[in-house]
Amino acid sequence: MSEQYVQVAVPVPMRQLFTYQVPEELQTPPIKIGERVAVSFGARKVIAIVIAITDKCDIDSKIKPISQRLNDSFHLSDFLVNYLKLCATYYHHPIGDVFQQALPKLLRQVKKVDLQPPMVWQSAELIENEQKEQLAKVETKAPKQFALFQLIAKHHGISWAELRTLGYSKAQLNALVAKDLIKQVKHRPGQFSWQDSKLTQENKQVLSTEQALIVAAINQSLDRFSCHLIDGVTGSGKTEVYLQAMENVLANHQQVLVIVPEIGLTPQTLLRFEQRFSVPISLHHSNLNDTERLDTWLSAQQGSAAIVIGTRSAIFSPLHKLGMIIVDEEHDSSLKQQDSFRYHGRDIAILRARQTNIPIILGSATPSFESLQNALSGKYQYHQLRKRAGKSNKAKITLIDVAQQQMEFGLSGTLKHEIKQTLARGEQALIFLNRRGYAPAINCQECHWLSDCQRCDKPYTYHQKQQLLICHHCGSQKRVPKQCPKCGSVRIAPVGQGTEQLEQRIGEIFPDVSVVRIDRDSTRKKGELTKLLQEITDKKHQLLIGTQMLAKGHHFPDVTLVAVLDGDGALFSFDFRASEQMAQLLIQVAGRAGRASKPGKVLVQTSYPDHPLLQDLVHNGYQHFAKQALAERKQAMLPPFSYQALFRAEANYPSYPEKFLRLLTELTFTNCQFAGPVPAAMEKKAGKFRYHLILQAKSRKDLHIAIFQLLAAIPNNEWQSKVRWSLDIDPIDLNW
Ligand code: ADP
Ligand code: ZN
Ligand code: ZN
Repeated sequence: MSEQYVQVAVPVPMRQLFTYQVPEELQTPPIKIGERVAVSFGARKVIAIVIAITDKCDIDSKIKPISQRLNDSFHLSDFLVNYLKLCATYYHHPIGDVFQQALPKLLRQVKKVDLQPPMVWQSAELIENEQKEQLAKVETKAPKQFALFQLIAKHHGISWAELRTLGYSKAQLNALVAKDLIKQVKHRPGQFSWQDSKLTQENKQVLSTEQALIVAAINQSLDRFSCHLIDGVTGSGKTEVYLQAMENVLANHQQVLVIVPEIGLTPQTLLRFEQRFSVPISLHHSNLNDTERLDTWLSAQQGSAAIVIGTRSAIFSPLHKLGMIIVDEEHDSSLKQQDSFRYHGRDIAILRARQTNIPIILGSATPSFESLQNALSGKYQYHQLRKRAGKSNKAKITLIDVAQQQMEFGLSGTLKHEIKQTLARGEQALIFLNRRGYAPAINCQECHWLSDCQRCDKPYTYHQKQQLLICHHCGSQKRVPKQCPKCGSVRIAPVGQGTEQLEQRIGEIFPDVSVVRIDRDSTRKKGELTKLLQEITDKKHQLLIGTQMLAKGHHFPDVTLVAVLDGDGALFSFDFRASEQMAQLLIQVAGRAGRASKPGKVLVQTSYPDHPLLQDLVHNGYQHFAKQALAERKQAMLPPFSYQALFRAEANYPSYPEKFLRLLTELTFTNCQFAGPVPAAMEKKAGKFRYHLILQAKSRKDLHIAIFQLLAAIPNNEWQSKVRWSLDIDPIDLNW
């Protein structure tokens, strides 16, 4: 036996690998890259991943041995190891942390994983007449139960996680169990292999010419890397294109990875995949427990899952036969992780497609300016779907000048009139107000004292139902004071309006109308969102009030009016991306109107109806707006025409982060510029003072070189121990 050493990634925030020795007794069977080993690190024993193996070591100090090899089947492939290394390099992020985030929790523990085969649901064989009668009864009396039965019968081995995500309840399952119609069995997954019978023709649409051309273009590039941007309004048939493009990949016995911003919000989309393909589908999202997450990981690794659908971190799934990646709603900011490892799910999906040499499809009704620019410049294949599929028409957007109108609870006369008419026709109206809580502040009506969070210097939001003041920035809470702490007056009142207040008050304008509110507060309870969405589809409610939670991807066929109460939020922000985000949000909300055959209307209340941005968006559409804005960005040399990295620093005193960042600017680079340091838009948050320093370059390479040098200089920065700092490559939120 010879000497052997391994370099491993350890879950610590350090940008380096660590070397350990492999003791002789642990050298057989041969150790492999991607293996999980246990090592002692400081006083802890941690799981590390083998990244390199050597028989020499030129470190002088004593090298510790690895303590244990896990020897289970959960090792990472060379391919995945390389991919994660690429990700760490691109984001200049500690490699151990990247591996940590890419692995399910159970694989990050030293404790041996004892994994039982997962339990799945199957339909019972209906031999007895009694069962058949039962089923017939279910079909007529309980349509939801029947739909559940059909889904289970079709998929033959569907997990509770899937059913739950699709909005089914334990009660519905139990009802079918009680009737002997379904049963739970141990799942013993084999390799997924395709048969034509796995494709359901029922809901498959005959493609429009535009759609067919896209599918054909994608089909032509199945064996190589290519990036396709599908730019199409909500309802234009993007999902249908995804589904038909996937067919060939699955028929090739390859796997498809679908990344979505949030699964729980759009169970209908998930259902479309389940209905089209009766193949094993694994889910990956935050509402799974640790075992379920590991099940998904394993099903990807072992090739039993044909499709993995998940939120951003699903991009790290160990799919060995990956044949296509789809990123839906590619503009959505929740694809970017906003703490520790700040990756963008879309961007590293492209990296993965490139590494795997497969096509990737990005879809959106409001493409990010980055993707749009890449499409316009020919780097991506650009596909447009200009019309809504089927019969529905695009909704028309109209601006309402609130300065000219008498307002009642934030609603103008015109708006009230339109809502009334919509309700009179038996249709639904959606009111969008992106502010949850009862009121965004409370104040004293005598001395004008405002209740501010001391830790953030921002007003508390008043939540009436809980009788609490809650800071939406740091989460701190306090009771509503009975008297003004400054002058003692009892005349304390809410200022402004949030969704909670609107829900209460709107009944005064529209009595006898059922109102439903959808925001983070009203959907906190598990299963509540699914329940409310179902009630909307069932037309139990006529008026829908919601925050941006309601703007995302839902299909509400009977909503024909969408009202945006305050369209001005982002018009005057300092963040150059604010107008892009505003336009995306407005168009996404507008996309909820008139989905079925009924025409829709969108009304946007504003104090600045003549604002050029709003005018452009309303009259010329998102594309035109985006092209204008891109021209401006080009002039100003802002992304996507340049590349940025953002150093953030925070401390208990404002001078520390400022000095820390200022020292960084003393290094000079020929092709990079610094902007800052400046106080962050929210200078104080949760008691910390926050500063920004932006580094910008015309080429990504120059930016990376500069970052390497800056990171190397930080250990010698005399302020570094006094601040908490982080690095954000391609930042999208400058508000932090
Ligand atoms: P998007 O993903 O762009 O919102 P979808 O694929 O969900 O669009 O399509 C919207 C609706 O139109 C769906 O009900 C879908 O079944 C239907 N649809 C899509 N393509 C076609 C087509 N070629 N012919 C008829 N209906 C279609
Ligand atoms: Zn007062
Ligand atoms: Zn606060």
